[in-house]
Amino acid sequence: MLKFDVVVIGAGGAGMMCAIHTGRRGRSVALVDHATVIGRKILISGGGRCNFTNINAGPDNYVSNNPHFHKSALSRYSPGEFIEMVEKHKIAYHEKKLGQLFCDGSASQIVDMLVAECDKVGAEFLKGRIVKEVKKESDGSFLIYTNTESLSCESLVIATGGLSIPQIGATGFGYQIAQQFGLNVVETNPALDGFNFSAADLSKFKELTGVSVDSLVSVNKAAFRENILFTHTGLSGPASLQASLYWKKGDSIHINIAPDIDPVRYFNERFAEGSNKEVKNILAEIIPRRLAEILCQMENIKGNISELSEVKMRAITNRLENWQITPQGTVGYKKAEVTRGGVDTNALSSQTMEAKKVPGLYFIGEVVDVTGQLGGYNFQWAWASGYAAGQAV
Ligand SMILES: Cc1cc2nc3c(=O)[nH]c(=O)nc-3n(C[C@H](O)[C@H](O)[C@H](O)COP(=O)(O)OP(=O)(O)OC[C@H]3O[C@@H](n4cnc5c(N)ncnc54)[C@H](O)[C@@H]3O)c2cc1C
Repeated sequence: MLKFDVVVIGAGGAGMMCAIHTGRRGRSVALVDHATVIGRKILISGGGRCNFTNINAGPDNYVSNNPHFHKSALSRYSPGEFIEMVEKHKIAYHEKKLGQLFCDGSASQIVDMLVAECDKVGAEFLKGRIVKEVKKESDGSFLIYTNTESLSCESLVIATGGLSIPQIGATGFGYQIAQQFGLNVVETNPALDGFNFSAADLSKFKELTGVSVDSLVSVNKAAFRENILFTHTGLSGPASLQASLYWKKGDSIHINIAPDIDPVRYFNERFAEGSNKEVKNILAEIIPRRLAEILCQMENIKGNISELSEVKMRAITNRLENWQITPQGTVGYKKAEVTRGGVDTNALSSQTMEAKKVPGLYFIGEVVDVTGQLGGYNFQWAWASGYAAGQAV
């Protein structure tokens, strides 16, 4: 039986951050992971460059059943603190856009940095371990049985992440442990994910595959201004991925594909100028040509602007400003960047991440019902929640 003060199951970003801060307090800590390669999600993140934080991260960038839960942890470990560690390790980085910080080089630099900090405090990595059973003893300690050894610890931290990308080892382990100890799990769904269209919509829009356009996408009071990308199954691109975080089955998404233009005024001005151009050509001055042609086809608009009826003008301007699509679903966990939902925050302390009813049991990172928008917010939550638990275990 190996004895540690703290065992962390899941050696991803949150788990390693927790181990670093636990070890710095002089506590012995082991990181148990079924993977043999550490930090695989970090390695594939940000297109291989890891968008490791967002300098603007704040509580409003997160979705949770309890919108106040994450405030405390986020305020106690800011993006600036993570940036300090990145700079100490001489990792070059840049702001790509909207406060999003990426490595200039490779995401592996972030993994190497976290592993080096874990090594510095003597955290032990137990890789390739299958956890068979977790038990709480009458003295309050925990027993963890793996395929190769048994461990005992005073505090057990669950940092096994969400369900997205099972191909690289995502599992529902954290939710099972929560349920084993009587904690509620908020319904989980794939998020920061592409949308799939119905067969009817797909047949209308299939010629748009590959078209990308700057848009304002709104759903359930959230709105995002970035590109959307039509795919062979539906919609992707950053604005669409962001919208998926706020979308529930049956909701329509509203797309403004010419957000800088008042389309009624635009058409009236062209009309007043006495333009004799075809409507699709006039549209192609403000949106991609292929999109302009398909929209005209959809509204059965042919010919010149001078021939455009009032009714057809209203139809096309409405399509530009408020194109409503009801997706059939999202692509699913095999592509989704995150899992929305997870361990119910009402069951956890917002200061320490400890389960209120199970002393010594902690949940951190994506397994918790706190999900960030696209743009470095999810890593910031992993660091901040890992830090919060690392101060307490
Ligand atoms: C393609 C992609 C790109 C992304 N890009 C970004 C980005 O650029 N910026 C950003 O902020 N966020 C990004 N994210 C989201 C971000 O990666 C996650 O939110 C973050 O990694 C969560 O950290 P975590 O430590 O909670 O979980 P994870 O990083 O998922 O770590 C969980 C660990 O637990 C282990 N584990 C799972 N089940 C078991 C089990 N049964 N037994 C033992 N171990 C287990 C796993 O092997 C893994 O090592 C991206 C996600 C994806 C999928």
